[in-house]
Amino acid sequence: MASFFDTTIKFLEKAAPSLDANRELLPILYAPKRTVKVAIPVKMSNGKMRIFEGWRVQYNDALGPFKGGIRFHQETTEDEVKALGLLMALKNAAIGLPYGGAKGGIRVDPKTLDAIELERLSRGYVDILYPLIGPSRDVPAPDVGTNPQIMAWMTDEFSLLSGFAESAAFTGKPQIVGGSAARNAATGYGGFVVLREVLKMTKNAGKIKTVAVQGVGNVGSHIINFLDEAGFKVVAISDSKGGMYDKKGLKVREICSKISGGMLGQCEIGAPNITNESLLALDVDLLVLAAMEGQINESNVKKVRAKMILEMANGGITPLADTYLEKNKVMVMPDILASSGGVVGSYFEWSANWQRSAFSKEDVFTKIDDFMSRTLSEDYEFAKKRNINLRSAAYSLAIMRILEATKVNGSTHA
Ligand code: GLU
Repeated sequence: MASFFDTTIKFLEKAAPSLDANRELLPILYAPKRTVKVAIPVKMSNGKMRIFEGWRVQYNDALGPFKGGIRFHQETTEDEVKALGLLMALKNAAIGLPYGGAKGGIRVDPKTLDAIELERLSRGYVDILYPLIGPSRDVPAPDVGTNPQIMAWMTDEFSLLSGFAESAAFTGKPQIVGGSAARNAATGYGGFVVLREVLKMTKNAGKIKTVAVQGVGNVGSHIINFLDEAGFKVVAISDSKGGMYDKKGLKVREICSKISGGMLGQCEIGAPNITNESLLALDVDLLVLAAMEGQINESNVKKVRAKMILEMANGGITPLADTYLEKNKVMVMPDILASSGGVVGSYFEWSANWQRSAFSKEDVFTKIDDFMSRTLSEDYEFAKKRNINLRSAAYSLAIMRILEATKVNGSTHA
């Protein structure tokens, strides 16, 4: 089976014919600029030492400093981090941010560590990568399995090593140490804006009502709330163990309003009455993918009955499945657009940190709205003109920006 990275590269190949210029520079995106593999020794609470494997893939920096999250997951591999690094480079370019793309990962199930072990692991990762990251080099953020507390420890470690406060070194921090009040909900909010704009442009507003959401982590739990507030009927939600389904609509406010440490926590899934596989096959208007990559693939795509898919998970749909959905007129709002609200939120956190100031939550939401609406109408127009789908349009425009910057920078040694 092709790896996640190999399948992600396929999207580049699919977008290539729509590139207007600099196509000869495309190979620059076929491999990361730098891949760092780390082994982090951590003294565990039982006194024994454990070594954790991790990576930072700095994929491309033609447009600005590397930027992208750090994932803590028991199945993370170098291949996965590489694919996510590429998607991050495309995402930042697609939305028009002055950033390159990177991704980090540690192979660990964070739920199996206690708080002290988690802190040591987070600090250890920064100690090893210190010379290669920082506000103008590479700015990490949370991703699957990491959170604001982990970003606070990492920022603190970075500042200790620097000898001065460097809040702009990481984004997604708690508000008290320079984080943005909007960052936690930003990815979910951005996804909601993408949906709202696409419904408007395709004249589907009011026609899409029932929704199933796979994944109730930070991204899923927020989008569920935004959808509920806007009057959509959320009929199914799930986590990795299974989901809840009620065709009359779930009581979202009760299930997803658990507050932990001032932030919205995960939705509380009661006794599951549906599997993840059957959630993806539900006869709903909209399917939201907010879990892991590759969830809709060759083996299950034929069962999908939704009319639209909002791909909040990076790489949620494989290229072959994407082609099948396109043929069957299922409208996909692709990952690099649907999930870009998070990094737009990060960008305003980072800018505020440089200026030693802060933006209000409302301000950041308005800025996310502006970024996403503008990008979407550009992508939609491009897609219409070229008769390609929204993913190919977003990928082509993103690639063209990266290649144009590569050419202008003149640093290809070619
Ligand atoms: N991990 C998030 C993503 O995949 C956010 C990245 C960031 O804010 O740098 O988009």
